[in-house]
Amino acid sequence: MQNEEKIDIKSLALDELSAYLKEMGEPGFRAKQVYKWLWTGIESFDEMLNIPKALREKLGERFYISYPRVLRKQESALDGTVKYLWELRDGNAVETVVMRYNHGNTVCVSSQVGCRMGCAFCASTIGGKVRDLSAGEILDQVMFSEKDSGLKISNIVMMGIGEPLDNYDNVMRFLRLVNDPECLNIGMRHISLSTCGRTEGIDRLAGEDLQLTLSVSLHAPDDETRNKIMPVNRAYGVEKLMDSVRRYYDKTGRRISFEYAMIDGVNDTREHAERLASLIAGMGAHVNLIPLNEVEESKLHPSTKEHLKEFISILESRGVNVTVRRKLGPDINASCGQLRRKTIKEAR
Ligand code: SAH
Repeated sequence: MQNEEKIDIKSLALDELSAYLKEMGEPGFRAKQVYKWLWTGIESFDEMLNIPKALREKLGERFYISYPRVLRKQESALDGTVKYLWELRDGNAVETVVMRYNHGNTVCVSSQVGCRMGCAFCASTIGGKVRDLSAGEILDQVMFSEKDSGLKISNIVMMGIGEPLDNYDNVMRFLRLVNDPECLNIGMRHISLSTCGRTEGIDRLAGEDLQLTLSVSLHAPDDETRNKIMPVNRAYGVEKLMDSVRRYYDKTGRRISFEYAMIDGVNDTREHAERLASLIAGMGAHVNLIPLNEVEESKLHPSTKEHLKEFISILESRGVNVTVRRKLGPDINASCGQLRRKTIKEAR
């Protein structure tokens, strides 16, 4: 029997798995036992030690366990950041980065193979979107990064390749799984989801009652500038985006984090800083400035140190809570999308 005719067991919810096992004549408690094993990073049914051999064989005939293989792995000699390029079952590749902070190890996961949002500064979007990742494939990145690196993961950021709100249902399933005590048991307060600003997704997310941190990739405080670097803005516009962000804040009470990549001569003037401060006033929001990572295919460059300093001081003088993202893994090009691009290019 070809694998493709079998069922991806990790794509099943616990009640779906229970129904299959019941149909196979198994006692009720088995489903939970099997389910728990799936989220330990096993690669075959034979590793399910408390499951009778006969059932392990039956499971293997009906289902398969998917898992990613390490295609490339890079480790920063400077700060211990580890970056993986995983090969998925169908030959596609995605990136995951493990960062070591004082407050715990953080994994940055991808949500799609490629991206269709088209941001001018981003490497992930260059070849467009190939496909969505399943919930299991997103979860595998957490599980197998932990297994391979030996680093216990305590925080997750959805800031890798892809737009999470463009793969809404799978991302939601991933979040609930990762939070499930029977699965990885990572608290929602330890998870951030980053979006380029799809407002219908933000509104839906507000209704899910999750305690995660929403990060919005703003990158410009006005339509003229934002349209130039983020095509998604032409569909929504800054005003509509901010309306949905405010609704999110009102409904959840969770402070929003805004990401702002500092791009030389594009979005880094005094006027941009003033407008940004006015735009987000009154929400206790946090601004995370990211010195632009240069992408080979793009003509955009990071802002100068002077402009960065001036930008920060204007925001601070207006009472905005601002931080500058520390660049981790500079020796391994740790920003997402770049390793996948490089590997695709080399294969040509
Ligand atoms: N699609 C989501 C999450 C993925 S990108 C989003 O747009 O938020 C994670 C963050 O990295 C986003 O803020 C994105 O705008 C930023 N980013 C992408 N390319 C970058 C680059 N070259 N330099 C700095 N930040 C970049």
